[in-house]
Amino acid sequence: MRFAITARDDERSHALKQQLEQALTDRGCILDVSQPEIVVSIGGDGTMLQAFHSYLDQVETITLVGIHTGHLGFYADWRPEEMDELIDHIAKQDLATVQYPLLELSIDYADGSHNQLLALNECTIKSFNQTLVCDLSIRGDYFETFRGDGLCVSTPSGSTAYNKALGGAIVHPALEAIQITEMASINNRVYRTIGSPMLLPKHHDVEIRPVNPIDFQMTYDHYASIIHQNVTSIRCRVSDKKVKFARFRSFPFWQRVRESFLADERR
Ligand code: NAD
Repeated sequence: MRFAITARDDERSHALKQQLEQALTDRGCILDVSQPEIVVSIGGDGTMLQAFHSYLDQVETITLVGIHTGHLGFYADWRPEEMDELIDHIAKQDLATVQYPLLELSIDYADGSHNQLLALNECTIKSFNQTLVCDLSIRGDYFETFRGDGLCVSTPSGSTAYNKALGGAIVHPALEAIQITEMASINNRVYRTIGSPMLLPKHHDVEIRPVNPIDFQMTYDHYASIIHQNVTSIRCRVSDKKVKFARFRSFPFWQRVRESFLADERR
């Protein structure tokens, strides 16, 4: 089994990385950072987001697995104490996986250029110093004109992150969908938005078109502060690509939700 390891920049994560690298090599696995079959992320969910983006061009062939060195994460759900068990599974090439949907972003610029991005959690669009005004179209049909602080479009596995803080629903990653949530929309007798989070199925896209050519910030996953002055359109849809996570043992999504948000940490 060819493997790579990404670790958060702290002493504990680095020490675990060295330990894991040695143990996997001793068990006959091959360290291959350019074309791994499995990528182990050691740190937190942020480290997993980094690992995902580092291997984006191989997203359909690699499998990801995360060890947390802080609190239980959604993607980083193995405890350091369970590392021997994890090593055993990797060495035995026992690669049971689950696949999660991704968000595809297609961005058009005023100069005619175009950019395509993938996100594991979400993208957000926020204005800095004035109200963000943008037209939303769903499947090509005008839906509403949004006025407010911003918008978030999330994946199912990202629904427990920023989306949750905005009052969005938690969505099981078996559902191929994206969710649109509002940030402080202006709603009165003159301006109106739907107000509720919306779930869009696969093959339905939302197009967000800034009405004024203002500066706004766009984030996707841990990438922030991308300032766009000349964006004409951002189209969001469920990507045809999916990301694979190793599921060497059963740790159902709803149990992860409960342990992360309701119960004491047990993993
Ligand atoms: P970070 O390290 O500050 O992470 C923020 C928190 O988000 C961490 O506790 C992390 O465990 C958690 N998180 C990340 N993905 C998650 C997921 N899918 N489900 C549940 N929790 C998750 O920042 P970062 O490392 O740069 O991570 C970027 C992510 O932070 C963004 O993708 C966004 O979802 C999240 N975020 C959340 C808020 C908020 O909740 N108000 C605000 C900004 C960013």
